[in-house]
Amino acid sequence: MEDIKKNQVSPFNEACRNILFEHPDAIGVAYRVLDCGCALLCGTSAGGDPTGTLQHISGQPVKKRTASPICLKCKKDNGLGRVVWDGIYWPGSQSEWPEKDLRISIGRKIFGPGYMEPE
Ligand SMILES: [Zn+2]
Repeated sequence: MEDIKKNQVSPFNEACRNILFEHPDAIGVAYRVLDCGCALLCGTSAGGDPTGTLQHISGQPVKKRTASPICLKCKKDNGLGRVVWDGIYWPGSQSEWPEKDLRISIGRKIFGPGYMEPE
């Protein structure tokens, strides 16, 4: 789970890139990782507003062109009660990211006042 950002070919990264590509007004992608390995993703604007629809991806490697695979657990409960980790994916290298203050204020708008960035 920890190396989700390092694995450049994961379904997670691919879904983030697709969201940013399809929604040019999105500057990052908010995500919630569930205990089953699935993740919920939604693009965010610079003002912390959602862009596009919430996407649900499986943490399992998938073959191209298959229907979006959602695990059985998520089919039953959508996973919202099983969030183990949330955060925001920023594209590019750290020097291209928005200022930390802006990142935190976007995160707090999406996830609430308790939002912190992992050090
Ligand atoms: Zn799941």
